[in-house]
Amino acid sequence: MKILILGNGQLGQMLGKAVIQQGHECVLYSDRLDKVMALGSQQPLAMTLAEANDWADVTTWEHEHLGEALVAKTADKFLLKAERFNGLVDRRTQKALCDELDIPTSAWKAYENTTELTAILESCDHAVVIKSAKGGYDGKGQWRWKPGEDITAIAEDAGQRPGIVEDMIAFTDEVSVVGARSHKGEQRCFPLTLNVHTKGILSYSLAGAEHFSKALEALAKEHHKKLTDALDYVGVLAIEFFVVGEGDNQHLLVNEVAPRVHNSGHWTMSGANCDQFNLHIRAITGLPLPELLIAPTLMVNVIGVAGIPEALWEAAAAECHWYGKDARPGRKVGHVNIMIDSFERGENLASTWADKLQLLAS
Ligand code: ADP
Ligand code: MG
Repeated sequence: MKILILGNGQLGQMLGKAVIQQGHECVLYSDRLDKVMALGSQQPLAMTLAEANDWADVTTWEHEHLGEALVAKTADKFLLKAERFNGLVDRRTQKALCDELDIPTSAWKAYENTTELTAILESCDHAVVIKSAKGGYDGKGQWRWKPGEDITAIAEDAGQRPGIVEDMIAFTDEVSVVGARSHKGEQRCFPLTLNVHTKGILSYSLAGAEHFSKALEALAKEHHKKLTDALDYVGVLAIEFFVVGEGDNQHLLVNEVAPRVHNSGHWTMSGANCDQFNLHIRAITGLPLPELLIAPTLMVNVIGVAGIPEALWEAAAAECHWYGKDARPGRKVGHVNIMIDSFERGENLASTWADKLQLLAS
């Protein structure tokens, strides 16, 4: 099959590797440069977006911030209805969908502008996170506020664009479920992944080490199934959750939904028989989805540094991925997957390597 991938960053390239493995062809569209590119190259092809779209049997995407104009030009080849796609990429309609499906998420209110945001904060008696409705990533487009703090400046800044105000959650952990739904409605999810963030950016993920209860694993899969069934979704979709409560009261609150392959699924490139990229390409081309076999794995993001130390390139248990990007503080430029034999070993390795591999913006 012929596949058009919207976006040509690292996720697009990793999807492209799976396209080749499964005997298909792809081109990638850089929405930043408005150019069609070959896989593994930043050299534009003599092909317009319209030509690429005609050429493709199916169109998929590496990120969801495509904008409604690009969606309108390419959605005839999407496996998801354009209005459902557009609904997922706006935090207001995404949260409303969770509420409608009875999938728990933090309490929230929408605002259009500074006046509405000011009114919400003036009557608020607890800490909140304010998030732009569209376009945020890696903690960008977010503000934190608690009673007693100044409202004017934050409402002026955040109110430039519509957004949501949501309750600040005192979570015990952040986790995600990455899973695929096939066109027949079959579901395959990777195990619940523990995600640790620093300054709003994913620092490391740990999975496959049986750290979470069976009940919590089942709950995550249930929420994923309910959501992807309701959307008639085909492909990989990730849900980020906050773990709240203790013991029998432990449960999950949706933080956000990413209708695509996800950074917290990168560990599957070393820790699964079929990684998230292969799982996505299988799903969108109609191949069967396999049972997933898992090996415990730690994924550490490489952020803002100029390279991965040789010690990791040499280590047998480590698999290094370098994205070929210029380094700047806070920018994801690679990741390292490390095979582990226990959750504790994963946490120890994460604390050893996170500082060495990450330079965050101040
Ligand atoms: P992004 O698109 O940048 O990943 P998120 O909504 O996931 O945006 O927020 C980034 C991080 O900020 C989260 O992973 C979490 O650590 C923190 N965060 C976001 N919302 C909340 C909240 N309501 N309560 C507590 N922490 C939050
Ligand atoms: Mg997030």
